[in-house]
Amino acid sequence: MSPFVPVEVVRAELGAALGDGVLVTDPDVLDAHSRDQALWCPADGAVALVRARSVADVQETMRFATRHHVPVVPQGTRTGLSGGANAVPGCILLNLERMTRVLEIDAAERTVTVEPGIINQDLKDALAPHGLSYPPDPGSVAISSIGGNVATNAGGLCCVKYGVTRDYVRQLRVVLADGTLTTIGTTTTKGVAGLDLRGLFVGSEGTLGVVVEVTLRLVPALPEPLTAV
Ligand SMILES: Cc1cc2nc3c(=O)[nH]c(=O)nc-3n(C[C@H](O)[C@H](O)[C@H](O)COP(=O)(O)OP(=O)(O)OC[C@H]3O[C@@H](n4cnc5c(N)ncnc54)[C@H](O)[C@@H]3O)c2cc1C
Repeated sequence: MSPFVPVEVVRAELGAALGDGVLVTDPDVLDAHSRDQALWCPADGAVALVRARSVADVQETMRFATRHHVPVVPQGTRTGLSGGANAVPGCILLNLERMTRVLEIDAAERTVTVEPGIINQDLKDALAPHGLSYPPDPGSVAISSIGGNVATNAGGLCCVKYGVTRDYVRQLRVVLADGTLTTIGTTTTKGVAGLDLRGLFVGSEGTLGVVVEVTLRLVPALPEPLTAV
């Protein structure tokens, strides 16, 4: 089956399943959303952009894509430097930027649960009044999403001391290729049963599924960092 599903079919089937303003097929908008910050990587051929607002939008998109054998490229805020969020021929760009809610801050357990599109710095700012910190700080902290950080296992300067994204991910809710929503990992400190699917998922760059919810381990508020040269 060809990956090049006609745009009319995308509009009729997927457009009907998604709410207003979620599916975009305007060529100029597609072009503007077709690449990350990588230089010289190919980034052409997207048939549609889905600006997901909910887990249901992601599930509908994955079901449609599987039914029609269409490739899907998940996207956070497209700050990646390797072309991982770039369009491939015939694909649907599945953008998570609009899913930015903080769902729960558990100060007693020192965890936070967020949607994938929240910007790393916005999360840090939301935690500060609770006396809590989320240490991973890629250089793109002010512009990259937590979902993208998870998908790339992002690191940064503070990670030399505090560890990288993988060290803070407790639980993920992910949508698989057929639209199934599943939960991997545990919210508790101890979680030793079975295979470490959470560890496998972190850094998998969207190849195993779409991250739609993340529960992160937190630490007490960090002091202002000092950098010595
Ligand atoms: C100025 C600058 C500084 C940077 N500094 C660092 C640094 O210090 N350390 C570092 O590690 N990186 C750094 N980066 C690279 C980049 O910011 C990180 O890789 C970041 O984690 C990408 O997040 P994003 O939201 O932009 O993801 P995107 O670029 O949109 O996507 C990155 C990858 O993750 C996948 N993906 C995104 N969201 C999801 C999701 N919800 N579910 C499944 N897959 C998904 C995409 O398909 C793609 O493969 C830097 C980039 C810039 C521009």
